[in-house]
Amino acid sequence: MTLAPWQSSVLERSVQALAEGRLGHAQLLVGPPTLGTLETARALGEMLLCTGASEQGLSQACGRCKSCLLLAAGSHPDWHEITFEDNPQGKKRSEITVDQLRALRDKLQLSAQLGVAVVAVIHPADAMNHSAANTLLKTLEEPQPGRYLLLVADSLSRLSATIRSRCQRTEFRLPTSVASLQWLQEQGVDAARAGSALQAARGNPGLALEWLQDEEILPLREQVRTTLQALAVGKGKPEETAAKWADSSQLPMILEFAADYALEQQRAAIANGEATVKSATTIADWFDRANQTRKLLSTTVRKDLMIYELLLRWSSL
Ligand SMILES: [Zn+2]
Repeated sequence: MTLAPWQSSVLERSVQALAEGRLGHAQLLVGPPTLGTLETARALGEMLLCTGASEQGLSQACGRCKSCLLLAAGSHPDWHEITFEDNPQGKKRSEITVDQLRALRDKLQLSAQLGVAVVAVIHPADAMNHSAANTLLKTLEEPQPGRYLLLVADSLSRLSATIRSRCQRTEFRLPTSVASLQWLQEQGVDAARAGSALQAARGNPGLALEWLQDEEILPLREQVRTTLQALAVGKGKPEETAAKWADSSQLPMILEFAADYALEQQRAAIANGEATVKSATTIADWFDRANQTRKLLSTTVRKDLMIYELLLRWSSL
């Protein structure tokens, strides 16, 4: 697998730390999943198990040794991935449970079957429930040589301070726009599309690429913006838009784009010196409401009514 430059720099630093005996047994990789935090953790885990890379001076797993072949086949006995499991009804759980962490603790007691190392990747680590986190903490407090725990999390805020303090932390930051544009072009995107997608994705090149590979997302964003623009000058019908949006399977994303647009308008008005304190506050308030509406979507509220109210408010700003 080819890693993006911001991913391989993380991997290189970790491999360097490993060579110098500074790599801690618990690593925490934090950042938006679209920046490839999980892919980087996996690449590091593969490197920890690979026997060919260090012999050949490679910066990534060799892909040819016994470990690498077993990993590729999905049957490496010393590799454990902990993520959402299905509940008894066959639906994906929304948290990582204590049973999963207990099972992992037991596996980490055993010695490495291939004699190299044992690697566990936990993702998203910030979705562990309280008791799962406590069990993990016990494991973290009893480090054993050759056992590595690689935690991948979207954000730090939901991880307890004690877990954070037991891990070596790498935070993924957005690459510079020059580096992002170059990478997008290397993925076969032309410069103009790369620029506008990167702007839409607020500087996140991984997200920009994801959106570019989906035929619907960027046009949908454009539609949301045009609709809000029209409503702001008294064109278009809030009821019709509300009904249409409420029906859309992309509703959460529509509301995210709408909130983004409001924020952008507010910033532009402030930058142009057009915003009064009152108008800036009203748009900020609308931004909050759009986000709250998005969070309420999974509840039993009438979506169309909620969106209608939101759009009416928008047209009167
Ligand atoms: Zn290998």
